[in-house]
Amino acid sequence: MSVTTYNLPAVLVIEDEVQIRRLLRGCLERNGFQVVEAPNGEAGLANAISTQPDAVLLDLRLPDMDGLEVLKRLREWSDAPVIVISVRNREADKIAALNGGANDYLTKPFGTGELLARLQVALRSRLPMTKPEVFHSGPLTVDLTTRTVTIKDRIIKLTATEYSLLLFFVQHAGKVLTHGQILSEVWDVQEPNETGQLRVYIRYLREKLEPNPAKPQLLMTEPGVGYRLVLRD
Ligand code: CA
Repeated sequence: MSVTTYNLPAVLVIEDEVQIRRLLRGCLERNGFQVVEAPNGEAGLANAISTQPDAVLLDLRLPDMDGLEVLKRLREWSDAPVIVISVRNREADKIAALNGGANDYLTKPFGTGELLARLQVALRSRLPMTKPEVFHSGPLTVDLTTRTVTIKDRIIKLTATEYSLLLFFVQHAGKVLTHGQILSEVWDVQEPNETGQLRVYIRYLREKLEPNPAKPQLLMTEPGVGYRLVLRD
C-alpha cells in the first residue's frame, strides 16, 4: 500500500463513487494531503486500521454497509476526525451522524473549498492546543484555569450554567454539537426534546458575547441540529 511515504496528513476516503473519489483525491493532494481510498465499508475499516489516517471522509450510502455502521465500528477504537459526505440532507440524518461520533457533515454536492476548510478545522480540533489553558476565537478569550471570559479584553460575567455551556463549546470548538449532546453534557438531561431551556441559555450567552446577538458570529445555529462555536483567528 502506497501510504505515509511522507509526513503529510493522510485522509481516508470511504466512498463507492469513483468520480467523487477521483475529485477528492485531486483536491486533497493539491492541498498537501495524502489520500487512501476505500470503495466500501469493509475496505474502509481495514484501511483505517492499517493506515491510521489523520482524518476520514465517509459516504453514508455504501454498497456493503451503512456509513453509520462504519462510523460506529470506527469509533470503537479511533478518535480520528470523521466528516460525513452524503446526499442525505435530512436533519435526522445529520443528527444521527453527529451523535454517532462524526465531527462534521457535508451535503453533496459540496464545494471543495468548503470541504478543505471543514477538514482543517477537524484536524485542528484534534491537535493538542499549544496553550491549552487559554482559548481564543476572534474577540473571545476563555482562560480555562481562572474561568475568566473576555470579549476584546472586557471581562464578561457568566453564571455557572452559562460557563459550563460555553466550556463545552470551547472543548469542541469548530464542531457541530447536537441539542442532545449539549443537553446530556451540560444539564445531564437525556430527553432530546428539552431544547427550550437550551435555546434560552444560548440566547443569554449570545447577549453577553456577541456584538449583535441577532446575527451571531461566534455561536452559530445549525438549524434543527444544534450549535457550533466558530474557530476564528
Ligand atoms: Ca455512495
